[in-house]
Amino acid sequence: MIPVLSVTSEAAPLVKTGGLADVAGALPGALAAHGVGMRTLLPGYPAVMAELRKPETCAELNDCFGGPARVLAEPVRGLDLLVLDAPHLYKRGAGLYLSETGQDWQDNPERFAALSWVACEIANGLMPDWYPSLVHAHDWQGALAPYYIARSRAAGRVRTVLTIHNIAFQGLAPVSRLAALRLSPADYRPDGLEYWGQVSALKAGLIHADWLTTVSPTYAEELLTPEFGMGLEGVLLERRAELLGILNGIDMEVWSPERDPHIVPYHAPAGKAPNKAALRAEFGLPRAEGPLCVVISRLTAQKGLDLLLEALPALLERDGQLALLGTGDKVLEAAFRKAAEHPNVAVRIGYDEWLAHRMIAGADAILVPSRFEPCGLTQLYGLRYGTLPLVALTGGLADTVIPATPATLAGKVVATGLQFHPVTALALSNALMRLCSLYQQTGLWRTITRNAMAHPVGWDHSATAYAQLYKDLLGKRI
Ligand code: ADP
Repeated sequence: MIPVLSVTSEAAPLVKTGGLADVAGALPGALAAHGVGMRTLLPGYPAVMAELRKPETCAELNDCFGGPARVLAEPVRGLDLLVLDAPHLYKRGAGLYLSETGQDWQDNPERFAALSWVACEIANGLMPDWYPSLVHAHDWQGALAPYYIARSRAAGRVRTVLTIHNIAFQGLAPVSRLAALRLSPADYRPDGLEYWGQVSALKAGLIHADWLTTVSPTYAEELLTPEFGMGLEGVLLERRAELLGILNGIDMEVWSPERDPHIVPYHAPAGKAPNKAALRAEFGLPRAEGPLCVVISRLTAQKGLDLLLEALPALLERDGQLALLGTGDKVLEAAFRKAAEHPNVAVRIGYDEWLAHRMIAGADAILVPSRFEPCGLTQLYGLRYGTLPLVALTGGLADTVIPATPATLAGKVVATGLQFHPVTALALSNALMRLCSLYQQTGLWRTITRNAMAHPVGWDHSATAYAQLYKDLLGKRI
């Protein structure tokens, strides 16, 4: 087995705020079949510490960014976990990244620099009986690992990969924290860690990792443009020969309409009916002639849900319905609560994993109108459950949904959903009208939902791509 260390700030099912957790949680299992033995280094948040029963103490550090720390090891829920137990950094309530008031923890730069630093130490032999050949870091929270490794004895011996799950989060810190973050002042330059007068952990990783990946081929292209690169497009252009887009998969066991314990299981779209009735009952929605649409999302500007609020009349005028589950931006939360005054709109503000399963199983369509979307997972759940994705033409949404167009509906129907472009309220409104009209064409709708359910959304293809990348970097062949 190739020993690989995954460095991540979240991993399902232990700690999750978004798609990163799903990926970091699923990848080790998917890679095992390809001869990769992946261990996962996670911060010792209370929720992670609570999962440990009899952990082995693999290493102790006296000064881990302001306090003592230990590296604990234990297999937990299918993950070969290494936990950085550093109470001064991670033992707190509220969110993984945000305090009770919804602000970033002031010491987030140090909290995740510590995680990356310990990954580097492990690459340099901190643990007596295991070290990785390759370190795979995720997002800005892991991005300093390739930087520290490039400056350490392990440079050149241990390979590094950095995956960008969302370039909007760049791990910025004031330059006054350079020393506290154990970064070399000599590296604080425009072609180094400097980003508009601050230090960017993500940029450090983008420059120093041996290889970069992101979570869809289209996002890999988009990242090279000013519109999507968020100021880092220049750095990425320099490295585009080492930038690869590999689509995320979903866990086919957790998301399985045939075996999902949270729903009435089904094998074909026709079997959705009892789940739809249950969903309507749960959300207090009446019977209706139009499609029942769902949204499961963080409520942020990225997700384009303000556009949905504007376009909603197109759905409601055709007796369509919307059930939304989400949390985030308070203005959006209030706006959706207001929209729910309409009898065909129902809203749950909050985070509820099992409700998400019931919604995907019960709905006719799932809406993902994101302004940008590195990969997106909920449209993949939609495909798997025969719940047609209506998505913006961007990032991974463009790579995973075959839109209903005259071409894909002619002859043998190959469409699996709907897409709209440009990402405006008008285009979304038109797409909702198309959705409603398609929904009335029962035979065609059935065909498209069957296509959706047959579309491959698991990890097989992507795990092969990651394993190949690791092997190429390590100079081995499959
Ligand atoms: P992002 O990582 O940008 O939030 P993704 O679509 O990649 O978007 O992943 C989001 C993940 O979080 C999915 O697994 C989705 O089901 C889940 N999710 C988001 N909001 C909620 C919520 N309110 N309740 C339950 N699950 C949610």
